[in-house]
Amino acid sequence: MKILSLQNVHKKYQDAKDFAVNDVSFDVEEGEILALVGESGSGKTTVLRLIAGLEHPDSGTISLSGHIIVSGKQSVPANERQVGMVFQDYALFPHLTILENVKFGLKKSAGNPTKIAEDTLNLVGLSEDYQKYPHQLSGGQQQRVALARAIAPNPKILLMDEPFSNLDAMLKDQVREEIRQIIKKTGITAIFVTHDTKDALSTADRVAILHKGYLQQIDIPKHLYESPVNPYVANFFGKRNEIIATPLEEGWHTTFGFIADTEAKKYKNKVKLMFRPEHGEVVKRDGQQLTGRIVKISYFGSHQMVKLADDEGKRVTIRTNPGRSFDGVERSFFYLWKYDIEEAF
Ligand code: ADP
Ligand code: MG
Repeated sequence: MKILSLQNVHKKYQDAKDFAVNDVSFDVEEGEILALVGESGSGKTTVLRLIAGLEHPDSGTISLSGHIIVSGKQSVPANERQVGMVFQDYALFPHLTILENVKFGLKKSAGNPTKIAEDTLNLVGLSEDYQKYPHQLSGGQQQRVALARAIAPNPKILLMDEPFSNLDAMLKDQVREEIRQIIKKTGITAIFVTHDTKDALSTADRVAILHKGYLQQIDIPKHLYESPVNPYVANFFGKRNEIIATPLEEGWHTTFGFIADTEAKKYKNKVKLMFRPEHGEVVKRDGQQLTGRIVKISYFGSHQMVKLADDEGKRVTIRTNPGRSFDGVERSFFYLWKYDIEEAF
């Protein structure tokens, strides 16, 4: 069942030339975690602020739990929308204990605020820390307090703006997983904003990508990565190699060798074959057709990246398993098991 729906939402800030959010429509299913990704300035924060009621759109409709909360000039005030928000800097009150921080947003009428706050802190794994102050906690713990404060009032949807950007790399992997588990345990629907594709692909059930205020694609992580709808989306989720290819009757002629492909005869002009490092494979034998001079090998523990050059010095990067040895090897065969054909030059 869908819990949130945006339809043709536009937002232009005063004095701005372009729309910050341009004709954006999407639905969020109940219990889903949606990641909103895009470069800086693509409109991610504005989308969250429109849902939360901190901004009003120029046009478009927003519904939450079956009720229209924004339409034309009409809107439900932010404090009546039952939307929970975690800000990038957590925005905890420094002079309040964490229990008081979590109690802060709870109405007196909502049963026993102290009990609810304690239960929520237990849920996020902070049962030992009720009386501590924010500065006595680590970054990851402060984030969990912010999360507890946002979910304690039992909102219909949770919004998080760049929740992982203040954490160092080591902590980030762990916190990301913890937050995902807490959200899934409560069953709450959540949207989080990130500019980090790894955060989005690993944590979200679906990912929406924005570019200059336009929604490009919304899909499950695997589809976005493997079947991007346009080159912008493809490149956003990781570097792609490019080989210029001339179509022949039986396949592609390239400076790395010949690729047999019956698709080629459908083309008249040169094309670009675009592929990710993991869509190629270096091989010992002449398995397929391509060959390159080994220029560089970078070892990453979990994998290696092999740079291969053609006679003109053009390079491609292929990912390979970490155990593979290239000692004394000057040239290597490789093949591509997947590539996209792009016509535009
Ligand atoms: P993101 O979160 O993806 O970085 P934002 O939603 O913050 O993007 O911004 C989208 C666009 O709107 C940017 O061009 C930004 O400069 C502009 N913008 C954001 N907030 C304001 C504001 N309060 N006033 C004017 N322009 C703004
Ligand atoms: Mg932002």
